[in-house]
Amino acid sequence: MDQSRSKELLARAARVIPGGVNSPVRAFGAAHVAPPFIRKGEGAWMEDEDGNRFIDYIGSWGPMVLGHAYPPVLAAIREAAALGTSFGAPTVSEIELAEKLVELVPSVEMVRMVNSGTEATMSAVRVARGATGRDKFIKFIGCYHGHGDAFLIEAGSGLATHGAPSSPGVPVATAQDTLTAPYNDLDSVEELFAQNEGEIAAIIVEPVAGNMGCVLPNDGYLEGLREICTREGALLIFDEVMTGFRVGPQCAQGRFGVTPDLTTLGKVIGGGLPVGAYGGRKDLMEQVSPAGPIYQAGTLSGNPLAMAAGLAMLDGLFEDPEIFGRIEDAANTLARGLEKVAASHDIPLRVQNVGSMGCIYFSDRPVENFADAAATDTDRFYRFHASMLERGIYLAPSPYEAFFVGAGHGPAEVEKTLAAAGATFAEL
Ligand code: PLP
Repeated sequence: MDQSRSKELLARAARVIPGGVNSPVRAFGAAHVAPPFIRKGEGAWMEDEDGNRFIDYIGSWGPMVLGHAYPPVLAAIREAAALGTSFGAPTVSEIELAEKLVELVPSVEMVRMVNSGTEATMSAVRVARGATGRDKFIKFIGCYHGHGDAFLIEAGSGLATHGAPSSPGVPVATAQDTLTAPYNDLDSVEELFAQNEGEIAAIIVEPVAGNMGCVLPNDGYLEGLREICTREGALLIFDEVMTGFRVGPQCAQGRFGVTPDLTTLGKVIGGGLPVGAYGGRKDLMEQVSPAGPIYQAGTLSGNPLAMAAGLAMLDGLFEDPEIFGRIEDAANTLARGLEKVAASHDIPLRVQNVGSMGCIYFSDRPVENFADAAATDTDRFYRFHASMLERGIYLAPSPYEAFFVGAGHGPAEVEKTLAAAGATFAEL
């Protein structure tokens, strides 16, 4: 595979952008290949600046569930742009997207739009702290909730890949209010509540953890978190930035039947434009400014282009009642197919998947938390990743990142991926 132009571009970018990229994972830091600079995409496919074509399983890290350049989203953006790109004033499309989210997400009674998942989680924790009058909160080791200071503690994916458990610049005082526990372990949550009685505002959790691969909640885990929060007067925040409209039409909370107090969203609901949202119980959201005293604001929040893209994306997802099932079937075929091909080469491989997300672990043991993910054969993953890219399969360049399947991944794409995996496993 010729990567000469991408390599040139990375060198040029690195002179003016830290590491040459605007988000660290894009640099393919620990991977054995250079990051392709992408020129365009259509459906499940992307083409780089060297003319290489790939089947894309990153999907812009989650949003592109209906594929790249999905025509109704492009049309909606064009139509909105023709009327003006930003007004900093209320517009109808903000109400429409908010109404849609209230209708679709079981726990959301009111919602505030922001510009990224990071803003959504920062704001949700602020609401939890403001509403409870407590400062501490619990997050789980290996879960990522964006790059807000309070979350950069044992934060999975990008940070795990680069071997940095936290980040310089996060004040010790901030870190002290973030309590951490292993995922899927209710006892350690009980212990934290016992040690910090009356001080914990919230638990924030990825209801399926997508930043240490794809780790499903064990039976009773989310229910247990719900019970503990209710008993302790703390709020339960589901960070559904990744799982929202990925693991099912009612997000993870609908799929697992557990109702959080607050929910954060992003990725899919912006149709590929910069969007996040946080919402939940009306009595909590009514405490947000200007309805209440908890301050949160944004110049571009509810941007008309982003609202139009998000609405067109959700319309596309819900106009066809079969679509979630079809994408999940494709993900299952891929996952079980990969395991089968690996087994035929005596390679221990486990693919954990739910809805349209999943992760490939080089291991024969289930992964239930970050320690399990870190114990998988990550060296083998990086060799697999590089070899798959050579064969036109674009996977996330880290064993701690999820893969995403979308409406564009038809039988032909899945078959081509399995063939590439077969050839790769033969060499690993
Ligand atoms: N929460 C989760 C679960 C995420 O996966 C991410 C990003 O990957 C975020 C929050 C942060 O979102 P953003 O990158 O839009 O700030």
